[in-house]
Amino acid sequence: MTDTARKHVDFNGRIVMIGFGSIGQGVLPLLRRHIGLAPEDIVIINPDPAPEPIAAEFDAAYITEGLTPDNFRDLLGRYLRSGDFLLNLSVDVSSVDLARYAHERGALYLDTCIEPWLGSYVDPDLTPSQRSNYALREDMLALRRELGEGPTATITHGANPGLVNHFVKVALTNIARDLGQPLPSGDGKDDWSGLARDLNVTTIHIAERDTQRSQTPKNVDEFINTWSIDGFYSEGLQPAELGWGTHEKALPPDGARHDFGADAAIYLNRPGASTRVRTWTPEAGPIHGFLITHNESISLPDYLTHRQDGQVVYRPTVHYAYHPCDSAVLSLHELAGRNWEMQSRKRLIVDEVVDGMDELGVLLAGHGKNAYWYGSQLSIEEARRLAPHNNATSLQVTVAVLAGLVWAIENPRAGIVEPEEMDHERIMEIAAPYLGRLTGAYTDWSPLTARGELFAEDVDREDPWQFRNVRVV
Ligand code: NAD
Repeated sequence: MTDTARKHVDFNGRIVMIGFGSIGQGVLPLLRRHIGLAPEDIVIINPDPAPEPIAAEFDAAYITEGLTPDNFRDLLGRYLRSGDFLLNLSVDVSSVDLARYAHERGALYLDTCIEPWLGSYVDPDLTPSQRSNYALREDMLALRRELGEGPTATITHGANPGLVNHFVKVALTNIARDLGQPLPSGDGKDDWSGLARDLNVTTIHIAERDTQRSQTPKNVDEFINTWSIDGFYSEGLQPAELGWGTHEKALPPDGARHDFGADAAIYLNRPGASTRVRTWTPEAGPIHGFLITHNESISLPDYLTHRQDGQVVYRPTVHYAYHPCDSAVLSLHELAGRNWEMQSRKRLIVDEVVDGMDELGVLLAGHGKNAYWYGSQLSIEEARRLAPHNNATSLQVTVAVLAGLVWAIENPRAGIVEPEEMDHERIMEIAAPYLGRLTGAYTDWSPLTARGELFAEDVDREDPWQFRNVRVV
């Protein structure tokens, strides 16, 4: 049996999926293929009736309703029982409230990011710090402390956050091997943070270049993307956020620390959708990406913070550097010009993609071999060959959702867990057959490479990997 046909696990409960957009539609075929389930045991709750035929194609029951803070307990109470799985693939629904509810019902839970209820991301009454992913994560960590042990709730387990957190461990292992450095004997937080410190990984970019395109160009007053336009808009308008490394010499002029929580990350007083950074991927080479906030930019530096005698001695700078598909870059440019008022039309491209690839990986830099990218290079052609109702971007996410579900079913009493606390080898085993080429590549490139003297810039030539050099100003 091939790896794209194997049943990974049997599940006796029901999967209740919230939301059925690009990720929900893409994961449904994978759930049917890889999880042993009774035909009547997938229920989808989604306010939009349009994608119901795709649910019907895979024998899933379809409830056309949306969750609100007032109705979610009653609505979920009709379908979710003890021992079931609550799979949150919606926008604008509170992850913390759903994780709490799943715990109370004795159900497993998974989401792909920590979302608030509708409106919070762009609430002008909240400070940038309160609108940050840092604050959302702190809320989830507070819930974890309050609830303690219980059914597994796998939080932030899509492609990024999710898969890329596991890529970092593979990349650290590969760099250590290539530098002849011994691997730690254990698999705990201190082992991984110690290894990253010993290798002197000062900087980690989640470096992504999406080259998928449609034959129909972007129209005026239209936003195009290869995954959730609402999701991208929300995170693009949150403040830019990044894990703040111990090698950094100075806080950015518009940077600020939060006055609560783990203190592993900072935010910039500007939207991520207008903050650009230099990065590199093997296929695209050097690119400018957007520093969009993501949970992995906060959980990874927290996990990799190394302490001695209670003092922080090491932490890498970690952030996303996202070059979305070209039509999405144009859409962002138009959106910024409108002072961030959303275009009236949205076009999510899946079936109409004609060519291109999503190159999604992690770039670990500062070590003895300069920089190393590890990740997935998945073309649209291969994504289509592997699974229906997906483009390359969604498949990298949906296979991570599948892997997170399987892991939770296999480890049902882990409580609330972040990707760093899961078994990365098991996740990679499930995901790898769907990720196209899994590539590891060293590069001599740095943010200072070929930096012309034409426009004399304020650069730090001693340490290429200072955030000051990485940021495009
Ligand atoms: P989408 O915009 O295509 O779909 C969102 C779905 O949520 C739609 O079906 C919509 O009808 C539904 N929805 C909206 N309001 C709802 C409500 N009140 N109750 C129930 N459902 C509601 O989004 P997508 O691309 O499928 O993404 C889904 C989620 O996954 C988003 O939160 C997105 O940010 C996240 N995501 C994470 C990753 C990752 O790698 N971690 C990648 C892509 C998407």
